[in-house]
Amino acid sequence: MKKILLFRHESWIEAPHLTDLLSKFEIPYEVIKIDQEDTIPSDINNEIGGLVFLGGTMSVNDPIPWIQNELDLIRLAHQKNIPILGHCLGSQLISKALGGKVAPMKQKEIGWHSIDFCKNEKAKEWQGKIPNHTKILVWHHDEFTIPKGASSLYTTSNCKNQAFVKDNIIATVAHIEVSNTMLKSWLNIYGYDIEPNGNSMQTIEQIKNNMQSKMQKMHFMTDTFYLKWLKFIYNQDSEPKLLKKIQSYLKSGSCLCGNITFSLKNPRNVVNCHCEECRKFHGNYAAFTKAKQEDIYIFSEEQIKWYQLKTDQAKRGFCKNCGSSLFWKPNDNSGICVSASALDTPTELKTTSHIYTNNASDFYKINDNLEKYPATMKNTNPIK
Ligand SMILES: [Zn+2]
Ligand SMILES: [Zn+2]
Repeated sequence: MKKILLFRHESWIEAPHLTDLLSKFEIPYEVIKIDQEDTIPSDINNEIGGLVFLGGTMSVNDPIPWIQNELDLIRLAHQKNIPILGHCLGSQLISKALGGKVAPMKQKEIGWHSIDFCKNEKAKEWQGKIPNHTKILVWHHDEFTIPKGASSLYTTSNCKNQAFVKDNIIATVAHIEVSNTMLKSWLNIYGYDIEPNGNSMQTIEQIKNNMQSKMQKMHFMTDTFYLKWLKFIYNQDSEPKLLKKIQSYLKSGSCLCGNITFSLKNPRNVVNCHCEECRKFHGNYAAFTKAKQEDIYIFSEEQIKWYQLKTDQAKRGFCKNCGSSLFWKPNDNSGICVSASALDTPTELKTTSHIYTNNASDFYKINDNLEKYPATMKNTNPIK
């Protein structure tokens, strides 16, 4: 399998969300540590699938020798049609290498800022199901121009040129690769760079506020971009099995009226629950898939009405507007069951078992060959 090269410029600016994803897919990668004077390759051999350029506190216009070498490498990759990805300094390097200009902004932009996707065809294609006004984490002093032939992807109110795509290249000045832990360490190491101005620069407290939730929503965007980018490298001819994994990694769904949309990673196969609560809530037995709490992104959460049943150690969520029954969320936050029928097709899921069969209603028979449990699956054996 072809490997991905990541160019790291400072030891504390890595790409945890990307490397986690690569590890999940067992995609090999190598980090070229510029901060430890690793050599930048002057050629790109057949073992290399894509190049990733990470952030750094230097400017692409600084007289640093390795910057020229990276610019040359980006141009060579572009010539050879090798997919390229860049964040922050990395995006500015890509812009400059492809003929764009990079210059200091009037004001730095630091914090969580809401984005508006551009209306061009390429932006629509990359946006996919990412909601407009998703908040991204930015921390930059310089701004790039969109290189000739590239398409602007989205904007923020303080910075028009936030991100661009061109063929198999995506560049975002935003740190969509960051993790909670890494961002907290940046605030410790480099927090002195923040001069809050009530507009383009937030306070450290504002950046930390609700960080996990903002991070999770941004990572839906990150995953959408990364999965699309990886498909330029691993295709039906070269890695059919991996391609299938990439394609089925993120599933999306919605309520009937569309006010609530959601996306989940690695959903479990479907279990039919025949308990009375499920039957009354869903109008029939419930067909549930499930995902870990951190693997589900629910958009427009304020559109959900949560109903807490006294006998049930969980809340049930439905759409305030159209009444679609969508979620069963245990109080221990161990995961969320999601109505499998609310997923967009193809779901590529299978129904594997029935639970609470003792509580099934009398107007139907459960006569398939799936496993049947009289109550929960825990500590019980299925009835043959
Ligand atoms: Zn609805
Ligand atoms: Zn149930």
